[in-house]
Amino acid sequence: MRIILFGPPGSGKGTQGDLIEKAYGFLKISTGDLLRREVKDKTPLGKKAQALMSHGKLVSDEIVEELVRQRIANLDRRPGYLLDGFPRTIGQAKSLEEIDRERPEIVIEIDIDLTVLMERLQKRLTCSRCGAIYNLNLQKPRHEGTCDVCGGALYQREDDKPGVIAERLRVYNQQTEKLRDYYQRKSVYRKVDGAGSVDDVFRKIVFFINAEMAKQGQTRASG
Ligand code: AMP
Repeated sequence: MRIILFGPPGSGKGTQGDLIEKAYGFLKISTGDLLRREVKDKTPLGKKAQALMSHGKLVSDEIVEELVRQRIANLDRRPGYLLDGFPRTIGQAKSLEEIDRERPEIVIEIDIDLTVLMERLQKRLTCSRCGAIYNLNLQKPRHEGTCDVCGGALYQREDDKPGVIAERLRVYNQQTEKLRDYYQRKSVYRKVDGAGSVDDVFRKIVFFINAEMAKQGQTRASG
């Protein structure tokens, strides 16, 4: 199965993606994380992406599609994967179908109010070593400035600063409408309210994933 997590920056896709990966064994593929790794390692691709990312602009479809293609080709024995931050354009959505034609998919949008988002993003800290996400209100690290998981230093992402957040949200809203329509027409689109606690939101996502898995099982059994 392929799960596409959809939602504006700060809606909790990364956190929910980690929980889904742990609960179901699906490989989490976050194009933002993959790109940040390339930037950190100063690869040629990272150098191309860096300026765009730090201004909240989208990186080219070719670059992100190649990163996703490589990951999907190396799923090992995982029962599927979940995408966080991809696709962001109709072009990327179509490429994904080319890369992996058969897999059933669901698209889950985490819907969230703009003011809650701004507050969350400004309070978000990310681990510089493993990418774990914290929030100074909702999910504080046990020791200030240090990751609970790996002990790495926590930092505020360059693109979580107020000016860049506004641009990222603008870009998101511009692209989303079309993508939402695209997936609604395919009847794979679901929406959850992202305003509750991490556990609340996760429970709602689990409901949709389990329903889809049951449907797939049923289809196989009756086919
Ligand atoms: P994220 O962590 O998903 O918010 O992504 C951080 C930044 O990486 C975005 O603001 C873009 O500059 C870039 N990025 C991540 N995913 C994509 C994508 N699917 N298409 C284009 N750019 C992307």
